[in-house]
Amino acid sequence: MTAVSATDSILGNAAALACRECGAQYPIGPRYACDMCFGPLEVVYDYPNICRDTIESGPRSIWRYRALLPVPDDVLDTPNMEPGFTKLIRADNLARELGMRRLWVKDDTGNPTHSFKDRVVAVALAAARALGFRVLACPSTGNLANAVAAAAARAGIRSVVFIPADLEQQKIVTTAVYGGTVIAVDGTYDDVNRLATEIAGEEEDWAFVNVNVRPYYAEGSKTLGYEIAEQLGWRLPEQVVIPIASGSQLTKVDKAFTELGKLGLVDATPYRVYGAQAEGCSPVAQAFRAGLDVVRPVRPNTIAKSLAIGNPADGPYVLDVCRRTGGAVEAVSDEEVVDAMRLLARTEGIFGETAGGVTLGVLRKLLANGQLDPDAETVVLNTGDGLKTLDAVAPVVTPSATIPPSVEAFREVIEQLC
Ligand SMILES: *Cc1c(COP(=O)(O)O)cnc(C)c1O
Ligand SMILES: [Zn+2]
Repeated sequence: MTAVSATDSILGNAAALACRECGAQYPIGPRYACDMCFGPLEVVYDYPNICRDTIESGPRSIWRYRALLPVPDDVLDTPNMEPGFTKLIRADNLARELGMRRLWVKDDTGNPTHSFKDRVVAVALAAARALGFRVLACPSTGNLANAVAAAAARAGIRSVVFIPADLEQQKIVTTAVYGGTVIAVDGTYDDVNRLATEIAGEEEDWAFVNVNVRPYYAEGSKTLGYEIAEQLGWRLPEQVVIPIASGSQLTKVDKAFTELGKLGLVDATPYRVYGAQAEGCSPVAQAFRAGLDVVRPVRPNTIAKSLAIGNPADGPYVLDVCRRTGGAVEAVSDEEVVDAMRLLARTEGIFGETAGGVTLGVLRKLLANGQLDPDAETVVLNTGDGLKTLDAVAPVVTPSATIPPSVEAFREVIEQLC
């Protein structure tokens, strides 16, 4: 491999792009696939000397880790959503109910548009501007559309987002309100993604965050891993359970943990990474169970729409990470997803979206089948807000009683209810 240097990089300490398949290197620029083998490209760094103090004295957002992200040095000076540094919540009630010893919920509902996608979009936007793009665009399963439309509004640039027409009403409204262009496409997410990829080839100054600037976008997920470690007091958890859509987030949390160890910011203690899918869209879980290296695409059919990618780009890399670290990939039914959403709300006062239900549901399943250690310190990710997927729980969550406005009527029902 050629030596790389970030001295002249317009994106901070990002030094080059490297092919994840053949290792070929390219200068930092608007490319995302390898010319030699069409493999996906990944950002490599000229890692700085960095200490905990420098990070801790930074802003309370993902930008405290900007030295480890592919963003220009002046990123703090441009208007952006300042996502990240969401709460890591010690979940003792939930742990007790599950028979676990030490459990934490990393709650990304605290981001500006209420999902983890604000992280990846902020990094993609910063890189895209530096690379000369003028429009922010994406194909989306919902949350990404929210994040792109809001971030573009804040930055004062145009956005164009493509969504499947059957998306949750809440996610359409919470995207369209920001005033960008929203195109609903009759088809699955995979159809939308294919269309966006074709358009990306024609519109030269459009940055499709998860397509043609994907290497930069993906790095934003590392901030979840950095925050978990910092918020644990600069330690790595022993187990972490992560939802899978394209699989990018999972692979980047692993990259973050590895980097922190190499940089000496944490002790490089072993950890196991577990991936979570809904049964109605579980191509990676199926490959894991079958012991395969390739992921066979499926047609999604699940209430967990934010995770409904039938042909996940990072699927094979997820299999690598979960196998290498001694973790697993599992899937749960839609019924188990709803159960887990209610469990999280009832025990910890956190209303997660269907993706959170998938992740907690899988944690529960892994405990039951002995693949997850109840005594090991565990972090489970809640990556989105239940208010955006109300339809999933609305049929099973109703008032306890409806009464006329009289104390007598209240006395009558309260006896039956308590
Ligand atoms: C997009 C998304 C994910 C995971 O995305 P990846 O494509 O796997 O990186 C997880 N949870 C929610 C709520 C999402 O919107
Ligand atoms: Zn290659």
